[in-house]
Amino acid sequence: MRLSRYFLPTLKEAPSDAQIVSHQLMLRAGMIKQEAAGIYAWLPLGLRVLRKVEQIVREEMDRAGAIELLMPTLQLADLWRESGRYEAYGDEMLRITDRHKRDLLYGPTAEEVVTDIFRASVKSYKDLPKNLYNIQWKFRDERRPRFGVMRGREFLMKDAYSFDLDEAGARAAYNRMFVAYLNTFARMGLKAVPTRADTGPIGGDLSHEFIVLAETGESQIYCHKDLVEMGAPGPDVDWDGDLSPLVEARTRLYAAADEMHDEAAYAAIPEDKRLTARGIEVGHIFYFGTKYSDAMKAKVSGPDGQDHAVHMGSYGVGVSRLLGAIIEASHDENGIIWPEAVAPFDLALINLRVGDEACDAACEKAYAAMHAAGKSVLYDDTSERPGGKFATADLIGLPWQMIVGPKSIAEGNVEIRNRATGEKSVAPLDAVIAGLTGKPA
Ligand code: ATP
Ligand code: MG
Repeated sequence: MRLSRYFLPTLKEAPSDAQIVSHQLMLRAGMIKQEAAGIYAWLPLGLRVLRKVEQIVREEMDRAGAIELLMPTLQLADLWRESGRYEAYGDEMLRITDRHKRDLLYGPTAEEVVTDIFRASVKSYKDLPKNLYNIQWKFRDERRPRFGVMRGREFLMKDAYSFDLDEAGARAAYNRMFVAYLNTFARMGLKAVPTRADTGPIGGDLSHEFIVLAETGESQIYCHKDLVEMGAPGPDVDWDGDLSPLVEARTRLYAAADEMHDEAAYAAIPEDKRLTARGIEVGHIFYFGTKYSDAMKAKVSGPDGQDHAVHMGSYGVGVSRLLGAIIEASHDENGIIWPEAVAPFDLALINLRVGDEACDAACEKAYAAMHAAGKSVLYDDTSERPGGKFATADLIGLPWQMIVGPKSIAEGNVEIRNRATGEKSVAPLDAVIAGLTGKPA
């Protein structure tokens, strides 16, 4: 992409109502624009990151055996009357009436819809287990939308729903999601700590929130330090096998947010292993038994010939919130530092003298070679001063910057900089291209 033709409305200063760094940087980097409180337009640069984050979430869901579908944003109130949640949900639900005076709502979540889809066709335990997910916009009329995409009213969520014959099956489904979440967040360069969450009237131990440590987070967490460093199991696990050892290795270490905090259990951790920190909830997994299948009559016939209400769980990831969390975890005073896996482009190609024959030719060569190797480039071919170009490149945080100037190119050289480490070196153009593409130029 040539910057001269792109749409990148960067700002010198963040608006004063942006309180946290991720919100400030997303506005300054031209990623989002607020349209109403908690409602954002995703500008081209922001959309590229959102799509990358979404794709990582999708790949890890697919790997864990979940199946993607797409449910509507508008839902019938009648389904929520069946589950008993229509009145109970309160002011966070955006209620809408259509021209036939039917009550609709903009979905804040989709347990009812997915249960309705499931019950329409699945009748036998032989079709289980199933896990259906979608990545869809949600609306919650939050009392205090704030911190940009972190607590929006309209936001993108991945929500998965598992269906099993019994609790043992549901536990296996839960474990698959637990491991998939660890892998998902690790691929984005995040350390997400699974913390015990409230199970309410369902009881049991199958509810965890995944919290990314960040000073600006809305959750207070208390945990064992080893949990933060433990890392993710990676993709090569036996998804059809017993994942409980992987889950138990983590859940036996203490970790809880405010509501669930148990001072005595925390005090039992050796003092040098205690960690109290702020964090951002990026995911929540939850087993809720037959709550919806009972209310909505989602039953399958079991091996015993009897009808059984299916055991369900739901598994959410805040896809749009993740962008804020990643920036909170990875930035410096000059701007964003994107982990390679989610960067909007792989390379910022900076032409210091547009119109200079040698500079232009070198840039065109690098631009073409990168694309041929499947890499994406944002080519700064504008007439902006060098200082402005460097500032923009640092602000938008692409992993690599290639700087092409008349002095160095006269010797066939360009400068290559790593945004994260700040390391720079000067080397022949072809060698730099080969390094970035993995192919000789
Ligand atoms: P919170 O406690 O932050 O309000 P929640 O418990 O309401 O979250 P869930 O219903 O479990 O959240 O939704 C799944 C995920 O969706 C959350 O883990 C979070 O990452 C994300 N999420 C929830 N509400 C918002 C919001 N208003 N804006 C952006 N992301 C959100
Ligand atoms: Mg909420």
